[in-house]
Amino acid sequence: MAVPEFKMLVGGERVTADSGQWLDVENPATREIIARVPEGDSADIDAAIAAAHEAQAIWGNTPPQQRAVVLERFAALMRERLDDFVVREVEQIGRAIREMRAQLARLPEWYEYYAAVARTHEGALHPFGGPYINYTQRRPLGVVGLVTPWNHPMLILTKKLAPALAAGNCVVVKPSEVAPITPLMMGDLLEEAGLPAGVYNVVTGYGPTAGKALTEHRGIAKIDVTGGTETGRHIGAAAGRNLVNFAAELGGKASVLVFDDVGAGRAVSGSLFASFIASGQTCVQGARLLVQDTIHDQVVDELVKRVNAIVIGDPMDPATQMGPMVSNRQLDTVKRYVAIGREEGATVAAGGEQLTGGDWDRGYYHQPTVFTDIRPGMRIEQEEIFGPVVCVMPFRDEAHAVELANATDFGLAGSVWTRDVARAHRVARRLDMGIVWINDHHRIDPSSPWGGFKDSGVGKENGIVTYEAYTKTQSVIVNTSDEPFDWFVDDATDKRYS
Ligand code: NAD
Repeated sequence: MAVPEFKMLVGGERVTADSGQWLDVENPATREIIARVPEGDSADIDAAIAAAHEAQAIWGNTPPQQRAVVLERFAALMRERLDDFVVREVEQIGRAIREMRAQLARLPEWYEYYAAVARTHEGALHPFGGPYINYTQRRPLGVVGLVTPWNHPMLILTKKLAPALAAGNCVVVKPSEVAPITPLMMGDLLEEAGLPAGVYNVVTGYGPTAGKALTEHRGIAKIDVTGGTETGRHIGAAAGRNLVNFAAELGGKASVLVFDDVGAGRAVSGSLFASFIASGQTCVQGARLLVQDTIHDQVVDELVKRVNAIVIGDPMDPATQMGPMVSNRQLDTVKRYVAIGREEGATVAAGGEQLTGGDWDRGYYHQPTVFTDIRPGMRIEQEEIFGPVVCVMPFRDEAHAVELANATDFGLAGSVWTRDVARAHRVARRLDMGIVWINDHHRIDPSSPWGGFKDSGVGKENGIVTYEAYTKTQSVIVNTSDEPFDWFVDDATDKRYS
C-alpha cells in the first residue's frame, strides 16, 4: 500500500519541499512508515515567511472580534473531528489512546479562551503628569516562528498558536520531524474556519536545517520554542543576535514531594500519575519522587506493585495504559540511563528492561522503572531522561525536602502532597519552579500561566500574559493643552520637559 503523503502549507497552498526531498514518519508501536512529509529547508522557510508577511497585512488589521469568530469556529470544528486527530496522534507518537483522547478533548478550550481574551482585552490609561493623556494600545508582533516538539504535538502547538492568532500574528510552524502529521492536518480545519491563506504556514523538516533557518530568519518578530534545553540555547542565541522576542519551554526534572500525612495510598496513585503517563515522556514528568522517611519503605513497596501492574501494549487499544517510547532513539536514551543508574549504584526496584520478544519487537517498548538507593547528584536523578523512570529518595523534614527538590539545574515543575494547608503553601513558595501543584500533578488550563524557571525556559505559555507576549505595546502621549509653547523662546514660562 502506498504511504500517504502530507504536503506542507505555504501561503494557503499545499506544497512539496523545494529540494524535492521527503522524510518518513514512523509508528513507534509497529515501526511501520505511516506517512511521508516534505523535508523542507531554508528555501521553504523563506517562501513561508514571505507568504506570512503578505497575510499579515490582512490578519493584523482584522478586528479582534472577527479574529475571535474564526478561532471559535475552529474550536467547534476541532470538537467535531476530534477522533481523526486522536488516531493520528496515537499513530505518530504511540501514546495510549485513552490519554490522547483525554488530552485532545480539551484543546478547543484554548481557542475559545483566547477568542474571549481577544474580545475583551483592554488597553490602559497611564497617570502621565501635566496636560497629557497617555494610553497604550497593543499591536500584533507580526510574523512569528513556532518550533514544536513531538511529545504533545497538538497541545504544545495549540498553546502557542491560539494566543498568536488571537493577537493578530501570522505564523510559520516548524513541527517536530517525528510528529508532523497533525500540525499539517490542522491547516485544513483552520482554512475551513475562515482563516485567511498565509496566516498559518507549516514547513516540515529537521531542526538543524528547517528549524535553524526559521529561527535565524530576519523576517520574524518572535520565536517561540518548546524542546530540549540545548535546542533552547541555540535558538535563544539566534533570537538575541536578531533582537527578536523569544519564549522557550525547555527540559525538566520535576519533583514529587510526598509528606507522610498524605498516606501511602494517595502518595502512590499521585506519583504513578505524575511519573508514567505518556510513558514518562512529558516535560513535567515526576522524575524525582521525594518521600518522607517515615513512609518511604511503604510507598516504595506499594509503588513497585502498582508499576508492575501497568498495562503496556498497543496504544490503539483502549485498555492499554502505557504505549511505546516515541522512537528508537528515545528508547536508547532510556536504556542508556538505566545502565548509568545501575553503574552509579542505584537499585532497580521495578522494571529496568526493554520489552523484547514476540510482538514487543514490533515497537519500542520499555518497562516503567523505579530506582531506589539514590545518592543526590547521581546523573539519573539530575539529568532529563524523558522516559518512564522515577528515582525515589527519602527526606527527613520539610527543609530537607525543599533542599532536595531545588537541587537541580531545572526549574519547570513539582508537586507537593500533604494534608497540611499551611505547609503546602509554605513549601510551594520555597520551590524554585515555574509550576507547583498541591495534591495533584500535570493539570493544565488555558488560563493558567505555564513555564519554567532556571534551565527550564524563558517566558510563559497560557493565560493573558501570553496573549500580551504576542503583542507589542505602543504608548500614545497626547498633549491636551492649547497654550503656546516654544522651547527656544525665553518667555519666562515654566518649561516642562519631563
Ligand atoms: P528537541 O529539542 O529535539 O526538538 C524540539 C524542536 O526543535 C523540533 O521541532 C526540532 O526539530 C527543533 N530543533 C532542534 N534543534 C534545532 C535547532 N538547532 N534550531 C532550530 N530548531 C531546532 O526536543 P524534542 O525531543 O522534540 O522534545 C522533547 C524535549 O522538549 C524535552 O527536553 C522536553 O522536556 C521538552 N519539552 C518541554 C515542555 C515545556 O513545557 N517546558 C513541554 C514539552 C516538551
